[in-house]
Amino acid sequence: MRTGHDIAIVGAGLAGACAAALLARHAGIEPQRIALLAGELPGASAPDAPPERRVVAISRASERVLRACDAWARLDLARLCAYERMRVWHLSTAPASEAGLCFDAADIGEPNLGFIAENGALVRACIDSFRDAGGSLIMGQLVGAGFDAGGVRAQCTDGRELAARLLVGADGAHSLVRECAGIAARTHDYRQLAIVATVRSERAHQNTAWQRFLPTGPLAFLPLFDGSCSIVWSIDEALAPELLACDGAQFGERLQAATGGVLGAIRLVSERASFPLRSSAAQSYVASRCALIGDAAHVIHPLAGQGANLGLLDAAALCEAVAGASAQREDPGALRMLRGYEQRRRTHNLVMDAAMSAFQVGFGADFGPAAWLLDRGLSLVNRSATLKRVFARQALGTAGELPRLARARLT
Ligand SMILES: Cc1cc2nc3c(=O)[nH]c(=O)nc-3n(C[C@H](O)[C@H](O)[C@H](O)COP(=O)(O)OP(=O)(O)OC[C@H]3O[C@@H](n4cnc5c(N)ncnc54)[C@H](O)[C@@H]3O)c2cc1C
Repeated sequence: MRTGHDIAIVGAGLAGACAAALLARHAGIEPQRIALLAGELPGASAPDAPPERRVVAISRASERVLRACDAWARLDLARLCAYERMRVWHLSTAPASEAGLCFDAADIGEPNLGFIAENGALVRACIDSFRDAGGSLIMGQLVGAGFDAGGVRAQCTDGRELAARLLVGADGAHSLVRECAGIAARTHDYRQLAIVATVRSERAHQNTAWQRFLPTGPLAFLPLFDGSCSIVWSIDEALAPELLACDGAQFGERLQAATGGVLGAIRLVSERASFPLRSSAAQSYVASRCALIGDAAHVIHPLAGQGANLGLLDAAALCEAVAGASAQREDPGALRMLRGYEQRRRTHNLVMDAAMSAFQVGFGADFGPAAWLLDRGLSLVNRSATLKRVFARQALGTAGELPRLARARLT
């Protein structure tokens, strides 16, 4: 069976689901002419269920994008945790309460820096918004795609063929759309794993995102709505098997030692999961009748929790480019218009990737001049109100040029 659409989006992760909802509501294209191909959908959690293990730090700019696609209003706000400050410190400094860098939303007159949200809940809210707007949700996996001057044909596992004028690759780090469009990607293996788990700490998290840089990789504690924390422990791959295999009590002790005891005793309350850490950057975000967004276009180190935020900004910028074309009655797959999308996003994302790699290498130093400089740097920034405001703006996601859908006065 062949079905025809203006736009087909492959992949219902956060970037794809948000792009679908934005396009259905803001691109000036009939929503039923937009298809979202979803390999799988996250299940709904009961209101009193424990937090999902996969959570993301959502910046205030991303909140704005999620409001624009009518997903924010569909979230259970009681399951979001607003974080008000970040504490960052290095191995060789005293625990975060005494040294290192602390920047606070109050320094810039904001109530918070962003929210820790469950990834599945965000995806579901975007998909519900897309369906309610009249978009076509198609369950299936992409197995191949062919492009020509007139359009694109995408083949799915059930033998269905989708014809469209634009194919959006939102199918994650190992994007098949990217491969079918002949776009190469440069990858870098950090030789680290990220261990993710939910924990409870003896001392309250104080609505603070905690991050300690260790020579073996950064360790983050993200505050959750029920008082627990989600940890992301990036660790050299040779050391990870032991941390994954030790029992829960030992793992808690290791976490307490790694944080210098700043949150007291730590208790593991979920299974541990691990992800290999690689960065990747597509050599181009667009080709004739094809655009890449989210992890299909770029994967960065999770140390600053920015990957999902970049994907949401991609979705907003692509939607604005398509809306511009549709206002001029132009083809949504026209390369000239797609290049405009790429120009707005690629440099921004490359700068973020380079910054994450530099932080990852720089903060890994455990002794000598590099460690001394880092400690001096952190405390210098901490003493400068201006520099702290710069950091706080980065966390809000409001630094640099933003898509219109992500711009708004805060508070
Ligand atoms: C440990 C860890 C912690 C992180 N923490 C944060 C954070 O705090 N804040 C933040 O902003 N980012 C964070 N990130 C990054 C963030 O999770 C990713 O950047 C983001 O989820 C990518 O979203 P995406 O939609 O582009 O891709 P994905 O989430 O990978 O979604 C891709 C979707 O495409 C589907 N798909 C794949 N192939 C096909 C196919 N052939 N046909 C149909 N569908 C297909 C998949 O099933 C999936 O649903 C973290 C990453 C890691 C590893």
